[in-house]
Amino acid sequence: MARVINIVETKNIKLCIDIAGGEPTIVEYLPTIIAKLKPYGKINLITNGTRSLSWWENLSVLPSGVIITLHPEYYDKKKLRINDLAHFLVDNHVSVSFNLMCQPDRWETTMSIFEDLDNQFKKLVIPKVINNQDVYDRPIAGYTQEHLDFINSHTNEVPPDSTVTYDDYSVNNLNANRIMSKNQHQFKGWSCAAGVNAICVKENGNVYAGICNSKNLGTMSNFKLLDEYITCPRPSCTCPGDIKLSKYNPMVRRTGIEPIFTV
Ligand code: SF4
Repeated sequence: MARVINIVETKNIKLCIDIAGGEPTIVEYLPTIIAKLKPYGKINLITNGTRSLSWWENLSVLPSGVIITLHPEYYDKKKLRINDLAHFLVDNHVSVSFNLMCQPDRWETTMSIFEDLDNQFKKLVIPKVINNQDVYDRPIAGYTQEHLDFINSHTNEVPPDSTVTYDDYSVNNLNANRIMSKNQHQFKGWSCAAGVNAICVKENGNVYAGICNSKNLGTMSNFKLLDEYITCPRPSCTCPGDIKLSKYNPMVRRTGIEPIFTV
């Protein structure tokens, strides 16, 4: 942590950290990480929401944001506590959103999870597109038109943090899951900021450019941020955290429009 704080102070930048898992709330020293790093920027937690409310109430410092991931395969156990947790977080000025894992083979459960949320939270739901993790190019799951209509038509009020500029110069807020649902998430050969202003730290201390692990940057004790954008080596960019990194297609880059994706 000291090294991260040193880089942030030397470069005079703000931290934006997403802590994910597995399930990060089972990590014993998580409350310490939140308390030490929050003064330097935003600390977001991606959790399945199964911790009791009292665990959250006992945190000395709450994270800046909590993304509650709703999984159809084990939702029953926690359905009663999700609204209570969201109310507690919102009341304590924590930004909340929900990653609704849209599983085509459990669509009824996926929809019942959405319906179980209090109405005020439905507008904080991000329908999350599932990828097939078993093959290298990770195609999206087999959705029907009904599924895709829900994913693409659901509007949310989660503040956007990136924009996308298309070839015709139109600019939209970036919705990573919509981009994936339309198979627009292939950036092989593009120039990407992974490793320049964004790193992924593994539990063993290894540091990579991007959640996609496109380039090993060393370990927490010796890594250096890259000076230049890397050329994307992957057939598809499958994590919203990676999709929103600045990137552009060098073949169509034009003066005044750069980069194609901007944070
Ligand atoms: S997979 Fe995504 S984050 Fe990784 S290098 Fe390619 S464009 Fe960048």
